[in-house]
Amino acid sequence: MSQRDQFISDLENFLEDQKEEGVQTLDISPETLVALKASTQKADQKPAAKPASPRPASSAAPPQSTVNVSGKTLEEIAGQIRVCSACPLCNSRKNTVPGEGNANRPDIMFIGEGPGADEDAQGRPFVGAAGQLLDKMIKAMGYQREEVFIANIVKCRPPGNRVPLPAEMDACLPWLRAQTALIQPKIIVALGKTAVQGLLHEEVAITRFRGTWCTYEGINLMPTYHPAYLLRSPGKKGEAWADLKAVLNNLGKEPPIKKG
Ligand code: SF4
Repeated sequence: MSQRDQFISDLENFLEDQKEEGVQTLDISPETLVALKASTQKADQKPAAKPASPRPASSAAPPQSTVNVSGKTLEEIAGQIRVCSACPLCNSRKNTVPGEGNANRPDIMFIGEGPGADEDAQGRPFVGAAGQLLDKMIKAMGYQREEVFIANIVKCRPPGNRVPLPAEMDACLPWLRAQTALIQPKIIVALGKTAVQGLLHEEVAITRFRGTWCTYEGINLMPTYHPAYLLRSPGKKGEAWADLKAVLNNLGKEPPIKKG
């Protein structure tokens, strides 16, 4: 990776972390803006190596969801999701990602933001690097992945892994609401600021809001960090573990004792 690409990657991670922590605006000095503009113009003069990423889909989504859930089982709902075109995310998806796991009143339902590239390719939630960390978190709590249910707020990948727009989350929410009503998890763990925002319609700073019990559709909900954020900020893993231990405590369980 060139120095410039590394810088852009670091900058993207920094901005994502800021967003995760609830920062809405950044103070940038006029001098920095001039330097950034000069740098962009310089880059524009170079021959393009490959086409630019697609622009995010339009935010002109319907103000209310047009989704009509008629499926009576998770399989029927997944079939409906597969042909859903209720928001612009349908245009760029390879596969829909309805969610998977124990659908018979599991102790925990994890809800993340939306599918990434790996999930879009496989049609399964949390199968990339963040998914591997989520698997470790689930195991540390004393569960197997198949014993919990894992889903996302939106069922189709936002282009370029951008954060789903509020209108897209609103459009998609009836699917998740119907799934939750069928699955009846004992506790929901919302992974990251966007999941909290999509479920509760609250703008929160996850660094302050995590660990605070809430309810969604009458079900206890624990907000904590998204595993992707924990991969970028491993120093926050202790706080996430405290949230997961609070979940276990609420279920009347203890984390398994480590052998050796
Ligand atoms: S993200 Fe949800 S609402 Fe939008 S097209 Fe996909 S399934 Fe439908």
